[in-house]
Amino acid sequence: MSQINLNNDDFRNHLYNQAKDGKRLWIYPGRIIGQLYKLRTYFSYLLLTLLVGLPWIEVNGQPIFLFNILERKFIFWTVPFFPQDFHLVALGLVSFLIFISLFTVLFGRIWCGWACPQTIFMEMLFRKIEYWIEGDDKAQRRLNESPWTNEKILKKSSKHMLFFILAFVISNTFLMYIIGKQEWLKMINENPNDHMKGLAAMLIFTGVFYFVFARFREMVCIVVCPYGRLQGVLLDNNSILVQYDHKRGEPRGKATMTEEKGDCIDCHWCVRVCPTGIDIRNGSNQLECIGCTSCIDACDEVMDKVHKPKGLIRYDSLNGIYSGTKLKFTRRIAAYTSALMLIIGILAIMLITRRDWESTLLRTPGVTYQYDEKTHMVGNLYQLGILNKSMKAQGFQVSVDAPLKLVWVGKPIQQIQQGQMAKGEFFIQARTGAWKPGKKVLVKIISDEGNEENLKTSFIQPDE
Ligand code: SF4
Ligand code: SF4
Repeated sequence: MSQINLNNDDFRNHLYNQAKDGKRLWIYPGRIIGQLYKLRTYFSYLLLTLLVGLPWIEVNGQPIFLFNILERKFIFWTVPFFPQDFHLVALGLVSFLIFISLFTVLFGRIWCGWACPQTIFMEMLFRKIEYWIEGDDKAQRRLNESPWTNEKILKKSSKHMLFFILAFVISNTFLMYIIGKQEWLKMINENPNDHMKGLAAMLIFTGVFYFVFARFREMVCIVVCPYGRLQGVLLDNNSILVQYDHKRGEPRGKATMTEEKGDCIDCHWCVRVCPTGIDIRNGSNQLECIGCTSCIDACDEVMDKVHKPKGLIRYDSLNGIYSGTKLKFTRRIAAYTSALMLIIGILAIMLITRRDWESTLLRTPGVTYQYDEKTHMVGNLYQLGILNKSMKAQGFQVSVDAPLKLVWVGKPIQQIQQGQMAKGEFFIQARTGAWKPGKKVLVKIISDEGNEENLKTSFIQPDE
């Protein structure tokens, strides 16, 4: 791959990592260690610990998170979800989208730079391995352009071996979120012939992760990620982004006796450290900018050396840059933050008040009533279904008030195992004349934890 051109004037016409002939330009970001990078490192280690550790923790024998699409089993923060909770999931997704949109309008791509798994894996794991084995950006470029020697073979093979091992670990971590720890342990401990599908998924995931982090890299953010593409419509002049203060920085270059210059000495250090290869001085709302803050650290380092105030590149809004006002908590931020809090609150209430079982009652279709001439009892046949949405077995009592009588047909519904649906049929009977025609019947269901639901249904009699 060709070397990236740092003197792009026509940055609007093509991607930074693409040559005019369409070939990909390989990006060698310079190694940077600044205040924000240190913060991002600590934060990413916390997130990585959570990501790898959470699948190993179980609450009441169940994982904290599970996204088993194949078996339609979902657990979110220990709360199990079933296809019957689709409305809740849909509402949650809509709220999440609103949340993401508002968050982006306010804070731009903070998610991409600080918390996105792609950035964290790439910058905090794979990139660090690359620096460790091949050296900094200059050394990497030299190595790539040098002929194949024993040293190059050793460095390249060790790097790619470590990349593959890391991809394997990441793949298994994600697999545990899909099938759960228990299934994963079975898969690696039992006869491989019994788990061919799972093992195939493990290898495919590993291959995909290896390809993404060894070769595809920033292309995920630039070409694949839909969130990145939304930035153009979500951001405005008040959004807080990684910004270059062009008022302070321009005209860039080294000052001479006859010509005054801005604070930017045009050293290109901010461009060299950028993992997507862009020049932040061309504008903040560039599709490729993932808000990783490397250019802030790089420029602060330069400003220190030239004895100028830090913050030529900083978190700010475009209006903040124009007006020169410091970042403050505006009414707009307050309004958006309140809206975000409200959405989170609604979602939390929905989750907290969600009952861990649900029932459906139907009068059996095609049947009107049964009349017993000997006992003078009228009976209607019903079908009841109860879904235990909790992660433990639950007992239930189904009853009707006098003068009605409930008689099960076959086995009554009493105990339902976790995550299971139980179905049963019963007659509701009343002596002739004892039940007012047209009056609704209430079927009471009580769980052994005392939660109650009253289902209303119709009752048909001979004189109706
Ligand atoms: S690092 Fe700072 S001084 Fe150097 S080119 Fe970038 S903005 Fe200008
Ligand atoms: S321009 Fe700065 S914040 Fe944006 S991706 Fe490049 S280094 Fe990161």
